[in-house]
Amino acid sequence: MDEKKSVTPDMAVLEEIIAMDKKYYMNTFGDRTRVCFEHGEGLLLTDTEGKQYYDFFGGVAVDALGHSHPAIVNAIKSQAEKIIHCSSLYYIEPQARLAKLLVENSCADKVFITNSGAEANEAALKLAKIYHYKKSKPEKCEFVTAYDSFHGRTLATVAATGQEKYQKPYRPLVTGFKHAPLNDIGALKDALDKDKTCAVMLELVQGESGVYPVARDYIQSAFELCKENDALLIVDEIQTGLGRTGKLFAYEHFGIEPDIFTLAKALGSGFPIGAALARDEVAAAFGVGDHGSTFAGNPLACAVACASVNTILNDGLPQAAMEKGQYFRDKLAKVSEKHTGKIKEVRGLGLMIGVQLGLPKAVKVKNLLFESGFIVGSVGADILRILPPLIVEYSQIDKLLSAFDDALAKI
Ligand code: PLP
Repeated sequence: MDEKKSVTPDMAVLEEIIAMDKKYYMNTFGDRTRVCFEHGEGLLLTDTEGKQYYDFFGGVAVDALGHSHPAIVNAIKSQAEKIIHCSSLYYIEPQARLAKLLVENSCADKVFITNSGAEANEAALKLAKIYHYKKSKPEKCEFVTAYDSFHGRTLATVAATGQEKYQKPYRPLVTGFKHAPLNDIGALKDALDKDKTCAVMLELVQGESGVYPVARDYIQSAFELCKENDALLIVDEIQTGLGRTGKLFAYEHFGIEPDIFTLAKALGSGFPIGAALARDEVAAAFGVGDHGSTFAGNPLACAVACASVNTILNDGLPQAAMEKGQYFRDKLAKVSEKHTGKIKEVRGLGLMIGVQLGLPKAVKVKNLLFESGFIVGSVGADILRILPPLIVEYSQIDKLLSAFDDALAKI
């Protein structure tokens, strides 16, 4: 299963797909990598030409269980044969079971299911606002988030995202968002206003901007500052959640419990679903008609998410991610020693790994790895992102490291 197959290339299929894409699909992705994956199993992806790749990017931290994991395939098949969609105006068994599963394994008391990460963050932002509104403090309606954060692509989550490149074309932005540098508690203190701040929203490892973990003393002080200012702490666990960092939820590393946290990505192991979770007092602010979504929480998505979360828990994947992540980073440090000056820093938590190169050659290294059949991500000129499925095997990590060693020798 792990060995790559050799097959006859069929370029015509890929050319036809590229031509259709260029003609009919809105061009928000520019020139995509010239590959179309047709099949996936575990870490292995097979393209339309039959070439196989080890996926160390996992659909940007989505495919926690690898590709086509039997638990996910079976959940989709068996739930689809029963019922796919019905409105949340009626009771939905998989929705109730998923809520129970998430609550029993987290610091939250209640769950609201969404269709994506951005929608989970929208739900969290709305919940924080309505929480203060219902306490007769509607003036507490401002948010503080971090520079270089990423919270999604809807208008409110673009305003929450502290990166100019995502905001520029969409001005005027949704108002009420301030940004402060991560890991600078003085700056956070200055940004907070007891009369106006509704919530602080943070990632515990900033993923999209290049894998920057939060400092323990910073997040603990931020937690205290929120309490002092009667502001809620929202933790965006969309990328870090469900085992990726070596704990089921990244907040467990830091000895804090957020008032609200959000999930998506690994929640459905490839099936679109997100969630906003909150402690009881906060969750109670959402009353009848205060929020909703046609598709969110449908039986199919929730049954798949139950299978995903149960597999992550039953197979001990958070602990595995911790151990494999440590192994990965230790070995990367060895590769770094060999290629003096080519790796500046290896950082991250669990299997959320960032490699900062000493040269602006991240895209070159990513492409060399791709040519040798390994998929990783890059950020800007000098950062590589490695986000393999949590089921990655040590032997597969070794193969990637050997290809990485070869790629560094070529730059
Ligand atoms: N928050 C974080 C931390 C993310 O990494 C992402 C996506 O990369 C999002 C929010 C947005 O999630 P989605 O793309 O599912 O809307």
